[in-house]
Parts: sequence; C-alpha cells; structure tokens
Amino acid sequence: METKTISTTIQVAQISELSVADRELIEHAMRQTDKSYAPYSRFNVGAAVRLVDGSIIVGCNQENAAFGVTMCAERSALFAAGASHPDIAVTSIAIAARDSNGFTTEPISPCGMCRQAMIETETRYRIPLRILLYGSAHTYIIEGITCLMPLSFESFM
Ligand SMILES: [Zn+2]
Repeated sequence: METKTISTTIQVAQISELSVADRELIEHAMRQTDKSYAPYSRFNVGAAVRLVDGSIIVGCNQENAAFGVTMCAERSALFAAGASHPDIAVTSIAIAARDSNGFTTEPISPCGMCRQAMIETETRYRIPLRILLYGSAHTYIIEGITCLMPLSFESFM
C-alpha cells in the first residue's frame, strides 16, 4: 500500500491586482446577486461566465420551496451559456455572494454539483476553466476545475 498526496494551487489576489477582464467578469457576478431569488436562504449568489469570443453570460441562484429544485448561480450561468451559445467555448467563471451584511469577506466555493458541471464544461470545450471566487478581502483564482475536484468523474465517451 502506498499513500498518494494530491495538492492544489490557488492564487490569492486583491481585486486591484486582477486584469480588467477578470474584474469585469467579477463585477457582472456581483451585479447578478441583485437578481437572485433567495427567499429561503437570503444568500444571494451571482455568477458570470466569459466565452472565448469575449461575451459574458450571467446567472444567479433561483430557490424553490421544494429545495431540491433550487438552481445554483454557477449552473444557471453555465447552462444559459450552453443554451444560448452552444458552440462557443466557456473560458472562465466568476462567482460572488452576499447576504444582508454585504458581500462575503472570503470567497465562497461552488457546491459539488456545480463542480461536476464545470468538469463537463471543460470536457465539452477542451479548455481549462479559469475560476474566480470573489471575496471582499481577496479573490481566489483557480486554473482548472480539477484543482477543486481531483479524481473527479468524467465520461470516457
Ligand atoms: Zn452549486
């Protein structure tokens, strides 16, 4: 028997250190929290994805009294991009969240289902997904979803 260690690399940056394109994507995610429907959690999450042609598609969490029906912001944006621009690759996603006290100080991280959807996005377009997790104190920059979900399930079709 042997032990294997899986490590991951995450860059931590101040918003001012990011490129104009990354800041723009985060600003779209932040604005999208205003459109979130979160009467149960009162936790508003916004996401924005950038396509390889530069266009930006947004999403936000949409809750439901039957909680299992609720859709996360990340998948909302990814699926909207897939529905409206199925042949244009997704290159990056930004995620921001706030509650009644304002935006989270630390970045929030996508749930397991959204991570799985991001894996499929990378597989579909054959481009590592740049993930920007916004927090008012700092932003995490993650190059590729496997950094957040090693040993993930992938189709071998
Ligand atoms: Zn999720």
